[in-house]
Order: sequence, then C-alpha cells, then structure tokens
Amino acid sequence: MTILVLNAGSSSLKYQLFRFENGAHAVLAKGVVERIGLNGSFVGHKGKDGAEVRIDGAIANHTDALKKVFAALTDKDYGVISGVSDISAFGHRILHGAEDFNASVLMTEENLQKCRKNIDLGPLHMPPNLACVDACRELARDTPNAAVFDTAFHSTMDKTAFMYAIPYEYYTDYKIRKYGFHGTSHRYVSGEAIKYMEKIGKNPSRIITCHLGNGSSIAAVKDGKVIDTSMGLTPLEGLMMGTRSGDLDPAVIEFIAVKTGKNLAETINILNKKSGVLGVSGVSSDFRDLSAAAEEGNERAELALGMFAYRVKKYIGSYFAALNGADAIVFTGGIGENSVKMRERILKGLCGLGVKFCAERNLSAKRGEISEINAADSEIKILVIPTDEELVIARETFELTAGK
Ligand code: AMP
Repeated sequence: MTILVLNAGSSSLKYQLFRFENGAHAVLAKGVVERIGLNGSFVGHKGKDGAEVRIDGAIANHTDALKKVFAALTDKDYGVISGVSDISAFGHRILHGAEDFNASVLMTEENLQKCRKNIDLGPLHMPPNLACVDACRELARDTPNAAVFDTAFHSTMDKTAFMYAIPYEYYTDYKIRKYGFHGTSHRYVSGEAIKYMEKIGKNPSRIITCHLGNGSSIAAVKDGKVIDTSMGLTPLEGLMMGTRSGDLDPAVIEFIAVKTGKNLAETINILNKKSGVLGVSGVSSDFRDLSAAAEEGNERAELALGMFAYRVKKYIGSYFAALNGADAIVFTGGIGENSVKMRERILKGLCGLGVKFCAERNLSAKRGEISEINAADSEIKILVIPTDEELVIARETFELTAGK
C-alpha cells in the first residue's frame, strides 16, 4: 500500500509518501509546500534517491498545493510513482477531534460534517486541515481519506484532570475543557519507550513524555493511556513555548487589553504569536538563536531559557505526583531531541525524585537514535526518543484502509 500523509497549516502543506509492504515501511518521498496563497510560493521536494528540488510557481490554495504535490510525486525525473492512482489512501493530521473522536476515523461525509462543527475549537488549524481533505476528495475521488486527530491520544483523561474549574454548564453547553495536543507524538514516543524498556527487562507503567519544539507539551502516560497533559482547550495552555505564553493568570488578559487598548482577539493573538521565549527575550522563538544570544551575554535570552527550563521541570514534578512516581521521562521534538543544553538545564535540578542525570551521556546522545541519558544507577530512565508523527498517521491510515 502507498499512503500519502498530509499535514496542512494555514500557508503550508507538509507531505510524506510511505510504502507498506510485507510488514515493513519505507518513505518514498517527502516535502513541503510553502507560502500557499502568498507571493513566492514553492514546493521543496525530496524524491527519488533523496534528490532535493525546489519548484517555484504561484499556489493559490490547498487544492493548487495538492496538484503541485501530485505533480512532484509523478514527475518523470524526480517522481516516485507513475500516477496519482498509485496512492492507496490519504492520511490527514487533524488538529481537533473534540469529544467526537477518540480515535482515527475514515473521513466519511458524516465525520467531515462533525469536524466542520468543531472549527471554532481550532480556528487557525482546522480550516486548512479540512481544506486539504476537501482537495483530496475533489482530485482523487475514489481514494479513501483517514483523519488522525492531535487530541485523540489524550481522550483517556479522567474528568478530574480535563475539567476546568468554571461553571459546569460551559462544559455541557460549549464543551469547554482540556483536550491536549501533540497526541500522535506523545503516543509514538511513549510506545517506543515501553518497547525500549521491555527489551532491557523493565516493565514500565508510568511515563512522562516531554514534546519540546516550537510548540511544547508534556503528558503523563499510565499503562499506555494519558492521564494528564499540559495543553488545554487550545494549544495555548501549559508550557511556555516559542511564541505562546503557556500558563498565566487569566486576569492578565483583561489587564493587557485595558492597558494597551487591544481587543480580546488581538490580546489572545499576542499570547499565541508574540509571547513565550520570543516575547520575553525580544530575540527569537528559535532556541538556537536564543542560546547564541545568551552566550553573548543577552540577559533576556538567558531569562527566557531559564524560565522555559523551570516550567518544564515544574510540570515534570507535578506529573510525578499525578502518576505516583515515574519509570521514565522522555524527551522529544526539535528542542527535546537536539538541545543538549536545554535538557541539562531541565534535568540538573531534578535529583530529589530518584532521577540521576548523566551529563556525559547527554552530551554524547546520537541524533536520530534512542539514547539513555540517565546515570547507570538512576532509578528512573531518562530517554531521548526521536518522534515520528507522520509514521503514526501512515500506520493509522494503513490500519483503517488496508483490504478495503
Ligand atoms: P519542532 O517544532 O519540533 O520542529 O522544533 C523546532 C525548534 O527546535 C526550533 O525552534 C529550535 O529552537 C529547536 N531546535 C532544533 N534544532 C536544535 C538544536 N540543534 N539546538 C537547539 N534547539 C534546536
């Protein structure tokens, strides 16, 4: 089976083409369409033999973007399939499943309608996600579409964990509650952690997964099921992020609005796009830039990094309490996988909980592989595990569509 995984953003479309054969999988091609609907749009495509090409040209919307992806995948020079009919199924990353979806589903008309009703829960991501499903249905009518929800893995949370302490009717009437995001990543790395630990004779039941990237979240996973996670109704809650504030006193919102004369939507936009490490440092949302600035003596960059680490540590501590201990802490995402210094900042002070960090192992952890960065006598394993959200989406799509 050949499965095309699609991850649509407001002006971008990431894609990866997988082949599943005899129980194994291979990535045939991948790429990203950038600047959809803007000037200077292009496709960055990595196809046959890993050769990279950039295809420039106007791309007005997601249907156009998908046409370009199909053209790249079937190109006679760098394409990998002979026609669009070679694609057996599409797998879509969909931001919000709300309470309607606690697992991946085929995008039937009925499910698509349910998703459309949830657009207000993810107004930035849901329209492009669904535009991409519409484009596939238009351009490849007979090919099935699977929806894999960012929220689904977190649907096992208990009410005590997911309810907000606001009037109960807001939950019953408007479904205002914690949902959590990055579910495919938390699912993948917690699964990989369990496999890794079972191989070395351990039987882990309590895992804390830290997905630290431009967007960051933490989950407490017990016996393979999420019992709590840091993001909320939207991805704004929880950890401090690249541009998102994360947790703050909700009264701050009105205070900012009154002081600056901004309306509610503008204020929330500031919390989503101009806050986090970018807002505190005034330098960048990128941790590489921040580290470089901090090393050159920029105090606000140093402060932003310190705040980020402190907040991750506090969440890890609270999930120790939620899980009644932990067997493993997992780091993943662009920062979690690559930033040796950030892992050290977070972990150095965690010793009181039976976690023994090893600075040398942390330094020598190989990129792209599972690494143990705890001391040999640490009760709790600390693992760096590369995430692979596209693979999870491809596997789910395979399971939903194989043989159909
Ligand atoms: P993600 O959203 O998971 O792709 O992560 C993106 C973030 O990872 C970027 O904003 C960078 O700040 C961070 N990152 C990627 N590589 C490194 C690295 N080598 N060192 C520090 N941070 C990194």
